[in-house]
Amino acid sequence: MQEIKVHLTAAPKEKPQKGAKLGFGKIFTDHMYLMEYSPEKGWHDPRIEPYHAISLEPSAMVFHYGQEMFEGMKAYRTEDGRVLLFRPDKNIARANNSNRRLCIPEIPEDDFLAGLKKLVEVDQDWIPTDPGTSLYIRPFVIATDPFLGVRPSDTYLFIIILSPSGAYYESGLDPVKIWIEDDYVRAVRGGIGEAKTGGNYVASLKAQMKAHDEGYSQVLWLDGVERKYIEEVGAMNIFFKINGKVVTPMLNGSILPGVTRASCIDLCKSWGMDVEERRISVDELVEAAKSGALEECWGSGTAAVISPVGHLRFEDTVMQIGNGGIGPVSQKLYDTVTGIQTGKLEDTLGWTVQVK
Ligand SMILES: *Cc1c(COP(=O)(O)O)cnc(C)c1O
Repeated sequence: MQEIKVHLTAAPKEKPQKGAKLGFGKIFTDHMYLMEYSPEKGWHDPRIEPYHAISLEPSAMVFHYGQEMFEGMKAYRTEDGRVLLFRPDKNIARANNSNRRLCIPEIPEDDFLAGLKKLVEVDQDWIPTDPGTSLYIRPFVIATDPFLGVRPSDTYLFIIILSPSGAYYESGLDPVKIWIEDDYVRAVRGGIGEAKTGGNYVASLKAQMKAHDEGYSQVLWLDGVERKYIEEVGAMNIFFKINGKVVTPMLNGSILPGVTRASCIDLCKSWGMDVEERRISVDELVEAAKSGALEECWGSGTAAVISPVGHLRFEDTVMQIGNGGIGPVSQKLYDTVTGIQTGKLEDTLGWTVQVK
């Protein structure tokens, strides 16, 4: 593992006050982690620097062909003052899966984890402590060759930035309304849907705006080929409880394999529930909603952890799930995952990594 050079800021910024509304992704801490890649040196020069603007040539490849990978995770401050990461090994492994798909050189796992821990340690006083708050961590890689030809870049920049983020829910879990999109698609099998990369997000904006205009907060995507099978929500994976069984779309190459998704599956199984990872057609869903077999629905992702779904709309069919409120499995998953993340519940599964 390479030694990390640390250059601390001489002008620390003012931190948000306790109780301040942080929102998401708007405030950045005092420092950032950087590492560079060249064919001669590989990944090199890991360092922590004061948070600053970066300078790139307008011809940098990332601007033209979108060769970039990102990750999203959180650090939490426990009541007894420890700092915890949640399953960072999963994010690091996924980052390298994305890198392989996007022809970006893999990042040595130990340099990645050491950089992550060191940066969070340096900026640990930025971790908010109000209930439901956390320090959002955004690692990303961009292609930096100044070149307009189409090929993988030879040089890259890896950066980690940190952003204190507010409670996703102001007061308790809040059910969301979801629009099932039948026209636009997000990803196709064989494409880049299972990589965490900006291209999938730009592909989703148009339908997201359409759903917003209709009064829905998120889009649930169907598969890009037959437009028949449920895939995911674009920044969340999706779960249903149908006839007592927990059902979620199987990973098929176009769905992002969420860390929260994997954790929900493990927890439900540990509670003795039947969990099926399989194809679910939108017709099956509409039928299950009609017959009353659709008992619960929730999204899973780092930002909200668990998002109970109160309503689904597909074309002209509006489906209310249960009484439109929060189902018991959603609530139990939320309480358990956030309990482990924040150190309130004992981590019997070994999911947390202590930074300090
Ligand atoms: C990040 C992401 C998710 C959720 O993954 P988590 O690891 O649970 O945060 C789901 N879908 C997409 C498209 C994503 O980018």
